[in-house]
Amino acid sequence: ALRMRPFAGPSVWLEFTPLSKLTSSVNLGQGAPGWASPPFVKKALVKACQDDSYCQYARSAGAPVLVEQIARQYAPKVLPSTMKSRKIDPATEIVVTVGASQAISLACTALLQEGDEAILIEPAFDMYTAAVQMAGATPVYIPFRSRSNGAIATANDLCVDLEDLENAVTEKTRMFVLNTPHNPLGKVFSRDELIEIADVLDRKAPSCIVMSDEVYEHLVFEGEHVPFASVSENAFDRTLSIYSFGKTFSSTGTKIGWVVGPHNLIRDLQIAQQFVVFCTNHMGQAAAAEALELSQAPYDNFSTYFDWICDVYRKKRDFLVEVIRAAGLEPIVPQGAFYICARVPDGHPLKEKTGVPEKVQELVKEGKLQIDPGTVDRSDYNISRRLVVQKGVTTIPISAFVKPELVGESALSKDFIRFAFCHPDHVLKEASRRLR
Ligand code: PMP
Ligand code: GLN
Repeated sequence: ALRMRPFAGPSVWLEFTPLSKLTSSVNLGQGAPGWASPPFVKKALVKACQDDSYCQYARSAGAPVLVEQIARQYAPKVLPSTMKSRKIDPATEIVVTVGASQAISLACTALLQEGDEAILIEPAFDMYTAAVQMAGATPVYIPFRSRSNGAIATANDLCVDLEDLENAVTEKTRMFVLNTPHNPLGKVFSRDELIEIADVLDRKAPSCIVMSDEVYEHLVFEGEHVPFASVSENAFDRTLSIYSFGKTFSSTGTKIGWVVGPHNLIRDLQIAQQFVVFCTNHMGQAAAAEALELSQAPYDNFSTYFDWICDVYRKKRDFLVEVIRAAGLEPIVPQGAFYICARVPDGHPLKEKTGVPEKVQELVKEGKLQIDPGTVDRSDYNISRRLVVQKGVTTIPISAFVKPELVGESALSKDFIRFAFCHPDHVLKEASRRLR
């Protein structure tokens, strides 16, 4: 269909994952943990598969065992302090989805229509633009800005300019997309920043919905994760908070996600879900419920599994930041999630040549690889391609997270590549060896 033309790509994932495999490269590209789910999650999955009650369809908006668990665990997180006595209704204020990916798509399908505008902060996870456009609405972009206008040393140096946000609001604004902790930048929005954003929306866009993607909620290395919904009653009333079982439990293959929000917004997602997938896989939902319950228990000398996994990732971040520096690149040290964006400075050997490397051109000619023709002249794409063919390390070019028309305009869309550190130490060490 004509509508799909802008997405024909292929997307960055469909180039770099196959390219990584074809070249036996160390894959620090697509963000999937390089290890198995923890034993208590695997056990829960096996148990659910052996339980006859989960062999057939689940309730459309989510299996009761799971939505009840989510309601219990998320009420204290997403409700503002002034709404303490309120609960999250498992039946009407949650919808379980096929990963957070389908939550994003469902929210846009259910709540956007032709003529609506959705404000995104770029660089933005590539799925948002596609989901907004596939729903017939128009994405409007505001950039992350550097607080000091100087070099960006940590993700905390990046912020949303409230004037940019105010100026982006029109009478058509229907959605604001927030992502904290942020993919790809690793920025974690502070409570104060979120309150300021909420104030702008209250003043300028009272009927705007916030789609708050918080799939990396447990991976915060400095500061704390604050759900946007929790900053005020108005914020709660306008927000859909999105979470992912895959990201939380190193189980991306299970593809379970959930959306929490007020009934008047969730209602439309529940209506739509009946006609999209009807329901999400039942065994995975039962396992997710059990895993959420067990996650609260002490784990390997930490008070919960989440504290443990966060510590694991923090050490990997610190290691890879040094590897990136030693390779002559300039990392933006992330405060959360599991990616590091790094700038390739002028004069770096990776910039000596331009254009698509010959090896990649050959693979395309042989029909083994597809690349998006729109990216052949982008310097970050060609730096990432060169890193694969010359050094055997796969990364993701940041302009994949920027609208094509804006590439080059935003400082962050030039010569930045993203490394994922969700990998075992021996893999990160091998990447280090290759990058040296
Ligand atoms: N949002 C963000 C910011 C992500 O990085 C991802 C990872 N794919 C998703 C959503 C999708 O999560 P899931 O794997 O649960 O579909
Ligand atoms: N969120 C992951 C990443 O950013 C996976 C991407 C995807 O599944 N499309 O690498």
